[in-house]
Amino acid sequence: MISPSKAQIKPGKLLINGKWQDSVRGGALPTVNPATAAVLTMVAEAASDDVDLAVKAARRAFEGGDWKKMHGSDRAKVLWRCAELIDKHSQELAELESLDSGRPIHESSRLDVPMAADCFRYFSGWATNIQGESLPVKGNCLNYTIREPLGVVGIIVPWNLPLMLGSWKVAPALAAGNTVILKPAEQTPLSALRLGEILMEAGLPEGVLNIVPGLGPVTGEALVSHPNVDKIAFTGSQKTGQEVMRTASRNLKRIALQLGGKSPNIVFADADIDAAVRAAVEGIFVDSGQLCTAASRLLLEDSIHDQFVEKLLARTKELRPGDPLDPATRLGPLVSELQLAKVLGYVASGKNDGAKLAIGGDRATVLGLEKGFFVQPTVFTDVRQDMKIAREEIGGPVLSVVRFKEADEAVKIANSLLYGLSAGVWSRDIRKVHRVARELQAGSVWINTYNVFDPASPFGGFKMSGFGRDLGRECLAQYTLVKSVWVDLTV
Ligand code: NAD
Repeated sequence: MISPSKAQIKPGKLLINGKWQDSVRGGALPTVNPATAAVLTMVAEAASDDVDLAVKAARRAFEGGDWKKMHGSDRAKVLWRCAELIDKHSQELAELESLDSGRPIHESSRLDVPMAADCFRYFSGWATNIQGESLPVKGNCLNYTIREPLGVVGIIVPWNLPLMLGSWKVAPALAAGNTVILKPAEQTPLSALRLGEILMEAGLPEGVLNIVPGLGPVTGEALVSHPNVDKIAFTGSQKTGQEVMRTASRNLKRIALQLGGKSPNIVFADADIDAAVRAAVEGIFVDSGQLCTAASRLLLEDSIHDQFVEKLLARTKELRPGDPLDPATRLGPLVSELQLAKVLGYVASGKNDGAKLAIGGDRATVLGLEKGFFVQPTVFTDVRQDMKIAREEIGGPVLSVVRFKEADEAVKIANSLLYGLSAGVWSRDIRKVHRVARELQAGSVWINTYNVFDPASPFGGFKMSGFGRDLGRECLAQYTLVKSVWVDLTV
């Protein structure tokens, strides 16, 4: 196994009011390296009294006004410095992310870390541009709007891409002048804690960012139910999203939910087949199929089905699970033993339901990492719409291939689930791709490409993939309140 060159693994603490501390009751949770199943370190677990302390600190920091009343250009400086520090520590952050989540360093160093830095840079620009409008109302009145920060924002993120997804919410929330409590997932807290250190070094005032690792039903629930938290920005599973919505309804807390997906990737016969094959393989196997946007349903036009599957399998065969810290590795382990069991359960259900297992289907063994949570890249063909593997989010490297005869049928299949996060369309016919893009019920549609993100472009779901948006101008409205001010000009 390759040893990290930069990442420092130390016991994790809570960040409350600018101080790193243990939890009041002394609770701590292990965080595990998915490639070895060994405990990396212990991380303090925030119980409800710690969450309460974090909320009080965030509330004081908000009401005290240092951050929200600071000129946008000064907030921008802190966010920009944070981006520079992320760049400076990029190798260390990438290694930390790969050790804690199993994501290959090839991805964490090329995508997650640069994207996190870009996200802070992008929203530092917005800190001076959040503004109201003057509106053309009837009568002799002046009416204008002010956009104010919301207050205390609770941010809950999942185990996949924790640094990047955390940045997608922390950066805009801070740019808008809010104070934040971040709860990373229990499986992958380390990069969020390091981001906290970086933001403090960048000059964030005490209490503006607090970090409370811990279990969902304990720490997450305490944050969502806390009456002094104004908003919850959540990314995670549909089931937890529903739970968050129920809990938040008790005090009508604002929420934004970014949930799971079962994304269709539609390939028409007139597509650039080799490019589509490359993207279909990457689209499902990147991050071992655990991305929320994983292209887990491959819809192939009948006439190219066999030729496409042959090329797809040839490329899939080349993918070998390996050490996430090895720059040559393209397929890492799943995040946890639980996820491994869940994914193998779906493989068994695909076999039972009569889908044809074309490749993979088992736990994979990697030399020197025999205890790691690796799964072989797996492809099922002859998948019917009624099968579980065609309908449910698997969260692993398992692709379901489905045939279609014409565009309308492809759209119908694509839209047939309650998910609506993302979709891919492959064709050289410019009219067809735009028509299909309009008809797809998905928050992101990629045409002749897949899994492209930029801080300027909004990201989020339709239907039960959630509501609210991360990134772009779009997300800022969710971290501000709009106030309408009227002035009678005759008095
Ligand atoms: P999860 O829902 O189990 O957990 C997400 C977070 O919620 C974790 O921090 C967890 O501790 C917390 N949590 C759990 N129960 C809670 C509760 N009762 N109250 C408050 N918080 C609670 O999801 P996961 O397994 O960590 O992540 C995988 C899921 O996330 C997949 O469905 C994936 O598609 C989705 N996801 C969505 C996006 C997106 O942007 N749409 C991005 C990444 C992942």
